[in-house]
Amino acid sequence: MATQRIIDFFKTRHSEGPCLVVDLDIIRENYLGFEKALPQSRIFYAVKANPALEILRVLASLGSCFDTASVAEIKMALEAGATPDRISYGNTIKKERDIARAHALGITLYAVDCLEEVEKIACAAPSARVFCRVLTDGIGAEWPLSRKFGCMPKIAVDVLHHANRLGLEAYGVSFHVGSQQTDPTAWDRALADAATVFKNMAKKGINLKMVNMGGGFPTRYLKDVPTAQAYGMEIFGALSRHFGNRIPETIIEPGRGMVGNAGVIRTEVVLVSRKSDNNNDNIRWVYLDIGKFNGLAETMDEAIRYPIVTPHDGSAVGPCVLAGPTCDSADVMYEKTPYQLPVLLSVGDELFILGTGAYTTTYASVAFNGFEPLRSYVI
Ligand SMILES: *Cc1c(COP(=O)(O)O)cnc(C)c1O
Repeated sequence: MATQRIIDFFKTRHSEGPCLVVDLDIIRENYLGFEKALPQSRIFYAVKANPALEILRVLASLGSCFDTASVAEIKMALEAGATPDRISYGNTIKKERDIARAHALGITLYAVDCLEEVEKIACAAPSARVFCRVLTDGIGAEWPLSRKFGCMPKIAVDVLHHANRLGLEAYGVSFHVGSQQTDPTAWDRALADAATVFKNMAKKGINLKMVNMGGGFPTRYLKDVPTAQAYGMEIFGALSRHFGNRIPETIIEPGRGMVGNAGVIRTEVVLVSRKSDNNNDNIRWVYLDIGKFNGLAETMDEAIRYPIVTPHDGSAVGPCVLAGPTCDSADVMYEKTPYQLPVLLSVGDELFILGTGAYTTTYASVAFNGFEPLRSYVI
């Protein structure tokens, strides 16, 4: 969404390479929207989506908690004003010495998905609360996440039981239905699995307390997506179906859905060319000063398709391959499905890439080919 504030900000600044502007008003709206859609759930913002200090500060002041993946992210959340009881260490892959550092910082809530990780936590963060991540199928997500994280529900019971034996608090179950999850019913299958783990733990005399329902809430790119309210209703329905009148404490971890639509990137056309006069291969190539290595990594496999605003909108469009500025042939954003852009597009035109508040600044390389990481402003 290019808000008036973002448009005004860009007007005051001359081009200095690609840059991202994030509007805090949109993030506030998103936070309040999640609160309204899922009033019973605590919100743990997934810091990795955009860790800008100003964003973390605003969210902390609104009462948000934080899902972190490293000691550095824990420190950022603390610096932004969150207390340790509002921070979870949600990465299932941690060095034991990092767990010890998190423990020293006061963190008491940790993710696990196997026995080995439970052992590390028992040593480095005694009596911590742990939740076990279960696998999901990722169907309906444009950026699936599971596979690498989580275990089968049956294993989760062993993992949590082991945690209990080692003096940790077996606290709950987590899952992530896949990022940019456009199907609100995707939570139903995962909540069914979570309820199974709760039942099987209860049979062992251990009562779990919490379900961490992860992120996955989408942001609008080229297509409309259901509202936060629609997700809230589906999720509440699924919780009731699978937990009856004993709905546990729940948390959600929105990343993309919290910050995605708050950001706009300004970029510049560097070159427009064709490679052949042969009719089969004369597609137009448009090269921007931003690509996969300085902010648009999520175009990998053409997974995320961003809306692009040009100075010629409304005039005739034609297909093009959209590519970045580096000397790496992987630095092509859209080719398998060419992007439709105005035929009038020319060198020096400024474009605005919308929906870029999430997973852009942190996915940028440091200086590949001498291109700077993505500059970012929060207003
Ligand atoms: C990345 C991540 C999130 C955020 O996911 P979105 O799809 O951006 O909402 C939430 N939880 C965990 C554990 C994550 O790794």
